Amino acid sequence: MIQALPTPAAVLERNCEQRSETGYLDKVQGSPGHRIVLFRGGRALLDGTGLAYLDPAAAGPHLPSDAVTVYLGRTLPGTHPQVPDGTDLVLKVLADDAGDLPWVPRDASFSGYRDVGDTLGATDAAVFIEAQAVANWHVSHRFCPRCGARTVPEHSGWMRRCTVDGSEHFPRTDPAAIVAVVGGDDRILLASNFAWDANRYSTVAGFIEAGENAEQGAIREIAEEVGVHLHATHYVGSQAWPFPRSLMLGFLAYTHDTVAVPDGTEVREARWFSRGELQAAVLNGEAVISRRLSIARALIEHWYGSAILEPGEALDHEEAAGHATPGGRA
Ligand SMILES: [Zn+2]
Repeated sequence: MIQALPTPAAVLERNCEQRSETGYLDKVQGSPGHRIVLFRGGRALLDGTGLAYLDPAAAGPHLPSDAVTVYLGRTLPGTHPQVPDGTDLVLKVLADDAGDLPWVPRDASFSGYRDVGDTLGATDAAVFIEAQAVANWHVSHRFCPRCGARTVPEHSGWMRRCTVDGSEHFPRTDPAAIVAVVGGDDRILLASNFAWDANRYSTVAGFIEAGENAEQGAIREIAEEVGVHLHATHYVGSQAWPFPRSLMLGFLAYTHDTVAVPDGTEVREARWFSRGELQAAVLNGEAVISRRLSIARALIEHWYGSAILEPGEALDHEEAAGHATPGGRA
């Protein structure tokens, strides 16, 4: 029996039905209790505690009237340490060249998710990811794919309508398969890409193609990139990864092959690790694996059976480090 990855529950009630009603966003913004999440250039405003939730009375007068505005949802009970339960959150996306914002709180600054994601709490991370996904979509879908005319937001920012032909356009998500490949000897196959530092290893990922199901995509990507044939694939969980708009579908997959062949164009090296080899390689710096905010890390640790220690953490976990064996190439 293959366990699913632990996946975080929603932290916002998105109110999908209400938000599509005309005037809903105005109603929310007319209420003093809502809070504003600010984006600029693909980065969110953070303060000393995490994502900044601005009071509309303080921030509202300074915000440009043409900022793209999106209803993110209402905080669910018990999910949010910084704002009361039931608070409506509204995203404002400023133009990339919005310049200095002297009115923002002194301890606040714009940061990208990849820089701060693993320091955020689960709630802030989830709100950041939703805001990032919908902000990316607005920025890249200002024009109609049918006729090229301008589109304008409706449905509280969850739909854009063409100003000429009236066609409706919704936020896009591109599915991708991300696969932890396990061999017959229970070793894991990790790949190092040409685009990365030579000692960085991760699971193999690739987009699902049009007309393909997720399992077919996973099998094809693994064959193409590391030359291994999968005989079983198990979907174990997913992660929204809006850079710019991916939904990562995580698989544990199995092969009888013992030889991996990197494609030589994207993948530089494909390497098998036993559990002991991987932990030892991470501790001695021979291998750097994906950070803890990623589903890649979750998949690797799913196979491993527990958290993998990073350099510096071993001193506090001597018993775990003690079972690691010297690293080596398979
Ligand atoms: Zn059009």
